[in-house]
Amino acid sequence: MPKPIQNASSPTTQIESTPKLVDSFGRAITYLRLSVTDRCDFRCVYCMAEEMTFVPRAQLCTLEELAQIAQAFTELGVTKIRLTGGEPLIRRSVETLLGELGAIKALNELVITTNGSHLKEHAQALKDAGVKRINVSLDTLDPIQFKELTRTGDLAKVLEGIDYCKSLNFARIKLNAVILKHRNLDQVIPLIEFAKNHQLDISFIEEMPLGVITEHQRDQEFVSSAQLRELITECFDIETSSENTGGPSRYWQVKGSSTKIGFISPHSENFCASCNRVRVSAEGKLLLCLGNEHAVDLKAVLRAHPNNIEKLKQAIVNAIGKKPEKHHFEQDDVQIVRFMNATGG
Ligand code: SAM
Ligand code: SF4
Repeated sequence: MPKPIQNASSPTTQIESTPKLVDSFGRAITYLRLSVTDRCDFRCVYCMAEEMTFVPRAQLCTLEELAQIAQAFTELGVTKIRLTGGEPLIRRSVETLLGELGAIKALNELVITTNGSHLKEHAQALKDAGVKRINVSLDTLDPIQFKELTRTGDLAKVLEGIDYCKSLNFARIKLNAVILKHRNLDQVIPLIEFAKNHQLDISFIEEMPLGVITEHQRDQEFVSSAQLRELITECFDIETSSENTGGPSRYWQVKGSSTKIGFISPHSENFCASCNRVRVSAEGKLLLCLGNEHAVDLKAVLRAHPNNIEKLKQAIVNAIGKKPEKHHFEQDDVQIVRFMNATGG
């Protein structure tokens, strides 16, 4: 069990005096994407190179440190935490972290993004921790294409995980798909059909130039959200939805069904003006923007001042003032050398 965190202020004064995280552009930060590990059992072609060097284990935050970071953010007004990675469900003893986070009263929403490969065995722990919404990345329903895109993945295991989560009645399961023009564009309609048939939602994500990959040229594979919508409207009747899950997705409702289709458009519909989130990497780096290299080492603060949450909170408050205004992605121009798995997608 983690040690109790030393806290200088009483719970009452904390609520009254807590400085909210507001950056220099007036954006309130209420959402943390917390990376549990940079490792993964898949090697998705848009996310990773085939041969990857991961952070040495000794440099990763312990689960206890990740829980302390989460606690500090919630005391500063963060109400939503998404566990991500790498593949969050392959971190050993991730259940312990889930339990710790689930017990944080100020947290309204604990959610997770997973590749689904180990979802079945962890689904109950997710449920017990109070996770209500799960995002499962799924780019294709064709098992051969799935293997090609993930390089190592087994589609059947992912589908089993989704099925099992459905049987546990999670409030919402959403698929995430990255569409590459010459690889899985033909899967857009089947994926929506699948989502409809299983009462799931689905978001399409434009590929981002994070890290140097070799298997394709990103600009050659780019499909914009608008192009996808054109394709989708040939087969489905969709209308704009006011749904907002606090993330970057813009939603459309498939008429006559419960399925919503989201579009995450970092290139074509820049969402920086309403950005409410920051990321913490598995080695404890606070990343202020997905598309910029600014980072602050929270693990160093934690290790210099063990169990002193006030020092940690101060470091976070100071860092938020440096959050950049926006990202600038060029389709095939890698300005960010960090791969998505190290960023925490
Ligand atoms: N391993 C988990 C998974 O795949 O769901 C969580 C981490 S993964 C980095 C989070 C999301 O980022 C996934 O939905 C994945 O498709 C997306 N992603 C990875 N690399 C990307 C890239 N270069 N551009 C856009 N999305 C990317
Ligand atoms: Fe792993 Fe997720 Fe990256 Fe695929 S997208 S390699 S599953 S971290």
